[in-house]
Amino acid sequence: MPTETEIRKKIRCCKCGNIFTLLIDTAGEPVISVRCLYCATPLVIDLRKYPTSETEVMRVAGDESPKTLPVYVLPEILDTEEKSTDS
Ligand SMILES: [Zn+2]
Repeated sequence: MPTETEIRKKIRCCKCGNIFTLLIDTAGEPVISVRCLYCATPLVIDLRKYPTSETEVMRVAGDESPKTLPVYVLPEILDTEEKSTDS
């Protein structure tokens, strides 16, 4: 698994409003389940509601071959929804 797609994002709990960081793999499942670090509420982050850009060109100093990555266009802080418990 490539690690370039993993990004650390700020997450805002929809329940208590606290903000914490989470490592998100943008190449993995678009719907991410997480538990709030503060109030332990089960939360869902749905990346599908955010637009994606085609590719992102990453240029590293001294590296002649730029990398292209598909990227979600994400806000600085991601909103969450409380996970519905049907069972
Ligand atoms: Zn919370």
